[in-house]
Amino acid sequence: MQTRFSNEQLRVEKIQEANEILRTCLHCGFCTATCPTYKLLGDERDSPRGRIYLIKEMLENNRPADAQTQFHMDRCLSCLSCMTTCPSGVDYMHLADIARQHIEDTGYRSIRDRFIRSVLKNILPYPSRLKGMMYLGRLFKPFRHVFSKIGLKEFKIMLELIPAKLATKNIKKRYDVSIDKKTFLKRVILMEGCVQQVLRPSINEATARLLNRFGVEVVISPKEACCGALALHMGQETEAKISAKNNVDAWLPNLTSERFDALIITASGCGTVVKDYDHLLAEEEEYHARSKVVSKLAIDISEFLESVNFQPSRKISGIRVVYHSACSLKHGQRVTEEPIRLLRSAGFEVFEPIESHICCGSAGTYNILQPDISVQLRDRKLDHILSLEPDVIATGNIGCLTQISSGTNIPVVHTVELLDWASGGPCPFSLKETLERKA
Ligand code: SF4
Ligand code: SF4
Repeated sequence: MQTRFSNEQLRVEKIQEANEILRTCLHCGFCTATCPTYKLLGDERDSPRGRIYLIKEMLENNRPADAQTQFHMDRCLSCLSCMTTCPSGVDYMHLADIARQHIEDTGYRSIRDRFIRSVLKNILPYPSRLKGMMYLGRLFKPFRHVFSKIGLKEFKIMLELIPAKLATKNIKKRYDVSIDKKTFLKRVILMEGCVQQVLRPSINEATARLLNRFGVEVVISPKEACCGALALHMGQETEAKISAKNNVDAWLPNLTSERFDALIITASGCGTVVKDYDHLLAEEEEYHARSKVVSKLAIDISEFLESVNFQPSRKISGIRVVYHSACSLKHGQRVTEEPIRLLRSAGFEVFEPIESHICCGSAGTYNILQPDISVQLRDRKLDHILSLEPDVIATGNIGCLTQISSGTNIPVVHTVELLDWASGGPCPFSLKETLERKA
């Protein structure tokens, strides 16, 4: 694609980066075939190619974001399906980040929209606040339809996403690290994830148990904060950088500080961002070298388990698992077969639904900010999943887990919970209940 940025514009690093990305696009349109919003809405401006044109136009003319560009960028899920389809290697992820930042800096948002975004930004990344709000939210849940009537349907969606049962355990004191330290073969940091540790603490528990059992010592940094994904997807790069710097300090205070064998991440939405810290902090002199180390250490739990040749201690037979591939894992990190191989090695019958490359509509806060599209994508995903008659649905991202759970009574669990079960841990609670009911 030809671009016509002036030399002066190209002196700005972000514009230079955008220019390089834009020039790799061939306008071929292959990406439109796998873009969820284009499939659903059929509008070229809701396709990757259409959005690329809108971004190019906006940045080249160095003009404030107009309503049209903002509207269609807001409808992008950042699922990155377009990146795995693109034959030319267009780096849509970083182009979208640049565009979102420009939109945030120059576009217009109503007071109502800014209020909703500010609520999300000030609650979701903080486990204690989120937990408190969820308890409070349960009181309001029966009245959620009132929020729709007063034009705040985002609050209705938030209330609907609150699970029926809330975890009560103390966030920082729940891992049973019971093996003598001397027997540990490896030492890793486990990233807890801000939303995950509140919504489904059993995922981190299962991960710690499983790793301990296989001779891996698990360390958690009390200074860990949100990975920054939430801010980044809202175009708030400065806030995202603050989170990233905080975490680099938490995990690697200096280049000579104690090194770990890996930084284990069980929420793939966070994993995609942490693996990209070296890019996010590329211009931060004090942090760049350390962010490179952190990004290199970051690994999804399924990748790590394969790398240490994980072998389940027993085979669980007769359980039909539909594996839902989170976009952040499949497209963002290109981790596709590892979770399926691991589950099969544990005896599970694993199936993948058709359109496994299409997003479930979760996409960070997308299910709250774009509820109409999100629900359509969820229901489409569920149609494909339920046609396979699963006993349980497995996935590797808390966002997908929450989104899919909101549309079905079939238990939805993290892959690692099933692997923990197959190696001596408990059966995931929701699955246990379902199996007991069926017995
Ligand atoms: S597939 Fe890649 S090169 Fe083709 S239009 Fe889409 S982004 Fe551009
Ligand atoms: S990130 Fe997803 S929704 Fe956005 S343009 Fe690419 S494929 Fe479409």
